[in-house]
Amino acid sequence: MDRAYLEIIFLCGFVLQIILRSYYIQYYVEGKHQRYFNKKERLFLLFIFVGFQLLPIMYVFTTWFSFFDYNLPKWLGFPSTMLYGFGVWLFFRAHADLGQYWSPGLEIKENHQLITTGVFKWVRHPMYAAFVAIAVAQIFMLQNWIVGPAFLLLAIPFYLQRVKREERQLIRHFGDDYRSYMDQTNALFPKKEQIDFKLILSKLKFRLKKNKG
Ligand code: SAH
Repeated sequence: MDRAYLEIIFLCGFVLQIILRSYYIQYYVEGKHQRYFNKKERLFLLFIFVGFQLLPIMYVFTTWFSFFDYNLPKWLGFPSTMLYGFGVWLFFRAHADLGQYWSPGLEIKENHQLITTGVFKWVRHPMYAAFVAIAVAQIFMLQNWIVGPAFLLLAIPFYLQRVKREERQLIRHFGDDYRSYMDQTNALFPKKEQIDFKLILSKLKFRLKKNKG
């Protein structure tokens, strides 16, 4: 796939995420809340803004970074678009499953329920997992030594700080319920025992047979 197409697809996904966030932000704007971002977190959020928004937009609309471009084989375009699509889908699903309990900062809302269904059945942090998928896809879609890995690298400090604080707060609020949820799930990738490889293989075989027949 041509790099220009990959850039256009990246941009479309980017706009889609902004639209989605603006829908869910209503729950945040309408509710009462204190300032839940500490200074460090605000700085790390700025890193994310640079890696995921500012640099990609500048890259797509200017030639300022072209000196640092790299060229990957065209066939990689398809799997990286799939990964990107998966990331955007997971981001959508996580918002839908978390619903009114979503917040940009760390917040326990009134009657806050612990969500362990939908994509939360597979991992504890599907939104952050979606960011990992998108950030890895960015390396393949925006083929530039500065812009490609920027999101993945600049998101690490935020992720490390945020997950620790978020889980501490959830344990404080939900106690043993959250602890047993932690036993059953990983933070970002499903546990091996959660994935039924035999079932996946048999489904794949069935599909292949159907396509042949
Ligand atoms: N870390 C999650 C959610 C991010 S939104 C993810 O990656 O999908 C942040 C808010 O979600 C926090 O205020 C936290 O209180 C809430 N939250 C996180 N996990 C939750 C869960 N399993 N059930 C209910 N609320 C949750």
